[in-house]
Amino acid sequence: MAPKYDFDLITIGGGSGGVRASRIAAGHGARVAVVEEDRLGGTCVLRGCVPKKLLVFGSSIAADIEDAAGFGWTIEGAHHDWSRLIKAKRKELDRLAGIYQGLMDQAGVTVLSGKGRLAGPHEVEVDGNIWTAERILIAVGGWPYVPDIPGLRDHAITSNEALDLDARPDEIVIFGSGYIAVEFAGIFAGFGSKTHLVFRADKALRGFDEDMRDGLMAAMAQRGVHIHAGASIASVDEASGKKQVTLDNGTCLNVDAVMAATGRMPNTAQLGLEALKVACAKNGAILVDADGQSSLPSLYAIGDVTDRVNLTPVAIAEGHIFADKFYGNMTRRPISYDHIASAVFSQPPLASIGLTEAAAKAKGHSFSVYQSGFRAMKNTISGRQEKTVMKLIVDNADDRILGAHMLGPDAPEIIQGIAIAIVAGATKADFDATIGIHPTAAEEFVTMRTPRA
Ligand code: NDP
Repeated sequence: MAPKYDFDLITIGGGSGGVRASRIAAGHGARVAVVEEDRLGGTCVLRGCVPKKLLVFGSSIAADIEDAAGFGWTIEGAHHDWSRLIKAKRKELDRLAGIYQGLMDQAGVTVLSGKGRLAGPHEVEVDGNIWTAERILIAVGGWPYVPDIPGLRDHAITSNEALDLDARPDEIVIFGSGYIAVEFAGIFAGFGSKTHLVFRADKALRGFDEDMRDGLMAAMAQRGVHIHAGASIASVDEASGKKQVTLDNGTCLNVDAVMAATGRMPNTAQLGLEALKVACAKNGAILVDADGQSSLPSLYAIGDVTDRVNLTPVAIAEGHIFADKFYGNMTRRPISYDHIASAVFSQPPLASIGLTEAAAKAKGHSFSVYQSGFRAMKNTISGRQEKTVMKLIVDNADDRILGAHMLGPDAPEIIQGIAIAIVAGATKADFDATIGIHPTAAEEFVTMRTPRA
């Protein structure tokens, strides 16, 4: 008997989550198509994590060159060629997009190139053609949000463009103070752009632990980022090739580029969800249950389009679990959204898992704080004044670690290891029983003995 549908699964969106779900489902024997209008790879590979990290690597070399003097090096004539870096980055992204295509080919997934739109509960329209599937998975991610401020939408770039500029701006205003804003402030300042960070809060990175936020604010200022806290952009105009940015405190900045890093929104505007009455949140996020199922039984969603925890590894885990459940007849351990480590690739970087001190207090825990602030060994001779900050929040009731936070070199690499211990339910006594690796910064996590007053 001919199958009822063209495919068992059509995934709209070929980013990290969509590719993982499609590949695993096909591996379980499902007939799968993925619809993508761009190259495969999505935000993380093409316009986010990967190119961003490459630029972070590149810009952080400036600090290494500065630090080298303390170790006896004379490095004369160091010069950075932005266009060479962008060319190398583009080549690497081509390679990665090719790998993603290869993964789809190997798994036997059909790639439908074009923009996908829902045409019915089991129908997807791609550039005028209708394809049918038993289930449809939406994995279209998010898109930068730019506030409606006079001139901002006309003149600002977003992270999409900032990662692929032909020329580096000599002076830039970055608006916002979330992950993207502080990461790009580090990138542009590192490469030598005069960088202004404009944001409405008193400190960057709302939601992160206060001591980490304080440490990062000091470090960014030391590294030459011009901080305009407690301010917003009132208007942006363009004249003689320059952007004139007026802040609501009256400050005027005449710069080469303005970047809005003011959050991201689910990418659901033209998907055809409304016609099918799919339940969505106010910001357009598709509302789903623990299995990723929407209010329309044949429609599922994973990743940033659901606006739960908007991180690539979370979307990948959600996609994998979806595919295993519906095509592999496997029930995997559900994701624990409480224990997801994350990192901000600011300079220096910041990483954390679990509760901040403020969140532990708000949740009514009785807890102790173990905290350490020190100059990393490399900074003693280099002369860099920056401080590493580490913090453990420990539950007084059962000695479990409620949260671990770090600001300083290698913080993301270190917190990844700590995260395993915390997910496994480690107690402070387990940390105390662990012998440190000397000399490292990481050993501080197992040698903090006295709670902070
Ligand atoms: P965030 O949500 O982290 O930050 C948004 C920033 O924009 C905040 O500073 C916010 O201010 C500000 N803002 C929002 N609306 C306005 C407005 N109308 N006027 C002035 N300021 C405004 O978003 P990002 O764009 O930095 O990042 C988006 C998401 O991408 C992150 O949440 C994260 O999930 C993901 N991401 C993860 C990375 C990583 O894991 N390393 C890296 C980059 C992105 P306020 O705080 O005052 O509300």
